[in-house]
Amino acid sequence: MATVLVVGGAGYIGSHVCKALAARGDVPVVFDNLSAGHREAVRWGPLVIGDIRDGQALDRAFAEHEPVAVMHFAAHIEVGEGERAPLAFWDNNVAGVVSLLKAMDKAGIAPLVFSSTCAVYGEPESVPISEDEPRTPVSVYGRTKKAVEDLLIDTAKTGRLRFASLRYFNACGASPDGDIGEEHDPETHLIPNALKAAAGLGPAMQLFGDDYPTPDGTCIRDYIHVMDLADAHLKALELLIGGHEAFACNIGTGQGLSVREILDAVKDVTGKAVPHTIAPRRPGDAVRLVADTARAHSLLGFTPTLSSAEQIVADAWRFHASRWGVASQ
Ligand code: UDP
Repeated sequence: MATVLVVGGAGYIGSHVCKALAARGDVPVVFDNLSAGHREAVRWGPLVIGDIRDGQALDRAFAEHEPVAVMHFAAHIEVGEGERAPLAFWDNNVAGVVSLLKAMDKAGIAPLVFSSTCAVYGEPESVPISEDEPRTPVSVYGRTKKAVEDLLIDTAKTGRLRFASLRYFNACGASPDGDIGEEHDPETHLIPNALKAAAGLGPAMQLFGDDYPTPDGTCIRDYIHVMDLADAHLKALELLIGGHEAFACNIGTGQGLSVREILDAVKDVTGKAVPHTIAPRRPGDAVRLVADTARAHSLLGFTPTLSSAEQIVADAWRFHASRWGVASQ
């Protein structure tokens, strides 16, 4: 049984990781400023309300709870907002990690699992994307994540930090129990937006570009169920706690799905076609992002089991339908 400080544990991915930690007997202590996270998503351990840029608040949390490791999810994630507010992104996403690393060093804690992203690859030269692909992000968001990866590499040279940079592809879905799920405000992600439109609860969904060089003209992504993602985090944490040296690893399925294929899955699951309009391409969207999963398989022993389009959309639908008060059957 290990106590783990989960920074940003009230957010979408963090809360699902907390659930997975608790399911195997670990104690997740959530440290979150609740700027984007949800108090009601903290169900599996204590909540410490604080900001990662507040070193004293971190020092107090480490002293009180004595975690053996840290998992870090707290970041600004909305790509368009990053272009409009770069300083806020660099401050929270990068300066926040400097503060976190200082506090970890003071407390003598070495293992850190960091939420990175396939956005560090920008528009990749080859797909599927291996971890050796050059990191040339094309957004402020992606550049802040790359900067943290580099910060971790430099800090690990002291010998007092062992980290995993997990480069997620498209996190989606919800806990199959329907107790927690994806709740961003504003919501920009494809699956919740498509479900909302299918449920008739909003305007038609905007499909950003149908003239890409793909078989159906829409962008291709690698959609990974959030509980599979949580499992990958537990496996990475195990390695680091066991003394494994630092590593970066893609977390995806290796399968690409187009936007239209997701809309088809939404129709199959909900029984309703997704009302949509074709909108201009969204700035910064890469044509095709699909993970090479070889390292996740060999290093972490990770194989997704919940990440079919049907399961992802069904689990997301169960959660959203209950939140929206509409029948899911
Ligand atoms: N997308 C869309 N309409 C939306 C939201 C997303 O057409 O309302 C498209 C987007 O252009 C991309 C894919 O869906 O091709 C996945 O986008 P999302 O924002 O979910 O994740 P991202 O790939 O940006 O991390």
